[in-house]
Amino acid sequence: MKSLALHWKIIIGLVLGVGWALASISLGIGSFTTDFIAPFGQIFIKLLKLIAIPLVLFSIIMGIVSLNDTTTLGRMGLKTLGLYLITTTLAVGLGLLLVNGLKPGERVAMDQRVANRISYELWAGQQGGEIKDGKDYLNDPQYAHLKMEAQQRLDKVRSDDFTRSKMSAAQDNRDAGPLQFLVDMVPSNIFKSFGDSLMLQVIFFALFLGMTMISLPADKVKGMVQFCSAGNEIFLKMVDLVMKAAPFFVFALMAGKLVEMAGDDPSALLEVLQALGWYSITVVLGLALLVFVIYPLIVRLIHPQMGYARFFKNISPAQFLAFSTSSSAATLPVTMEVVNDHLKIPKKISSFVLPIGATVNMDGTSFYQAVAVVFLAQFHLIDLSLAQQATIVLMATLASIGSAAVPSAGLIMLIIVLDSVGLNPAWIALIFPVDRPLDMCRTVVNVTGDITVTTAVAASEGALEKA
Ligand code: ASP
Repeated sequence: MKSLALHWKIIIGLVLGVGWALASISLGIGSFTTDFIAPFGQIFIKLLKLIAIPLVLFSIIMGIVSLNDTTTLGRMGLKTLGLYLITTTLAVGLGLLLVNGLKPGERVAMDQRVANRISYELWAGQQGGEIKDGKDYLNDPQYAHLKMEAQQRLDKVRSDDFTRSKMSAAQDNRDAGPLQFLVDMVPSNIFKSFGDSLMLQVIFFALFLGMTMISLPADKVKGMVQFCSAGNEIFLKMVDLVMKAAPFFVFALMAGKLVEMAGDDPSALLEVLQALGWYSITVVLGLALLVFVIYPLIVRLIHPQMGYARFFKNISPAQFLAFSTSSSAATLPVTMEVVNDHLKIPKKISSFVLPIGATVNMDGTSFYQAVAVVFLAQFHLIDLSLAQQATIVLMATLASIGSAAVPSAGLIMLIIVLDSVGLNPAWIALIFPVDRPLDMCRTVVNVTGDITVTTAVAASEGALEKA
């Protein structure tokens, strides 16, 4: 085992975790896994989160100090945000293309779709909203027999506890006004931002502090620079130490999550996946296209020495972690490590581009939101106009920026995208059962997208050749 590379050990941990979950479910000892194995997965995520916030703080400060001039900083900042915005919008476009082409929501019995449609019209009527595509199934005598079923469906999604709690969280977001995210970005008490793990506020503080430091004479801030540099080294070393145990932790995480999803019934997981199969296939297909075709191609174009296999070998520890933790924020310390040590991108670039990416650049999430909204519309027999699809591009891009880098954040923000095109936000209950596995996959895309953009920024700064 000793001579094996870390990514192989992590793969083995992952596979053993899945195997263990299946075995323990079929042997009926799922509760043993939940009680004695799953906690190690939680410990792993806590350790990574523990490191993430101070690492982001110190590494951004050191990134700025090593750049040492605000012109480079401004140029890199613009490039970073521009590239993040472009890749996110492209991902939404790909999502719309795939979901309109494959039409996963139309691959169910027509009666079911009509009943869904009537439930939508009932809901829209109660909301006092208009039906944008102008059709009227509710009052069509041909479908009168489906009315009762439609009402039951509407009641069911509404009464779902999970949906209710998430909808009230999203309501706060919605009421807040368009510039609320800017207000939220600025901390009033940095210790509170640390305490609540508010990554964007920590990034803002680090940028502000770093820029103030370089605007002062070097000898006045020497002590502070040394302190931050030591802090940076210490937290990077911590990542190293935690990663040594990653294969075991990943095993525990996978085993625990799968058992939690399936309960004590092995067929439950399959059934859930079958019902939403086409939707899941569309999402996974697009995410795979991004990870295995589009990103490596972009990297190949900007960095021809980086072959396909080498790219994946270098970054796979971060991808596997993203998959097993479903959190770009928890993965960030490792993403930084692979980018610095394996891709040899200078810290002064990665320490600036990656933390911002982990928080605002979520190509996988924006792609998934586009697919989910159109799928749900198809499933309810609703035709979305071109204007509505354009709104989806805009809203999914914004919603992915606003999604926290933690599990299920994308699903919560989906409420806002559904709302923006006049669809029932409670429908998140319908796709919730398959959300976790899809979240695992989209987090891999989010992290790979960040790494790709970091490589592009490094290339444009001429920092790849030097490496
Ligand atoms: N889990 C994702 C991430 O951390 C966010 C999402 O739910 O899409 O990147």
